[in-house]
Amino acid sequence: MENKFVIKNSRIEGKGAFASRDIKKGEIIFNWDTSNKLTKEQVKNLPKKDKNYVVKIKKEYFLLNPPERYVNHSCDANTYVHNFCDVAKKDIKGGGKITSNYYEKGEQSIVNIDCKCGSKNCIRTIKGEFDNDNKTNM
Ligand SMILES: [Zn+2]
Repeated sequence: MENKFVIKNSRIEGKGAFASRDIKKGEIIFNWDTSNKLTKEQVKNLPKKDKNYVVKIKKEYFLLNPPERYVNHSCDANTYVHNFCDVAKKDIKGGGKITSNYYEKGEQSIVNIDCKCGSKNCIRTIKGEFDNDNKTNM
């Protein structure tokens, strides 16, 4: 499948995903690799940095692999999740940043997120299911 994104380093947030061309609303951008299914116990025992990349879908936990894990959180995300895919919620211009709402993604966020996305609807602090005392900067 053709890649619709590139992973780039951003000084502020570490790695991020950006559209490699114009993407139309409704296009699938990422097909998740769901081979890393975890139990709740396994999630608890993960290193903190990996907990940032766990999503909970229908009571199951998945550790996201690159490139999905480089999609940054935004409360006003331009993708949504459907059948383990990230789908464009609106047209995204080539070069535009691809964002996902981690809170919407699962039934519940896994770790605490201190959000600085700056959108009007920003919920600022997302309380996660598991404690995570190193602040994430998503
Ligand atoms: Zn936010």
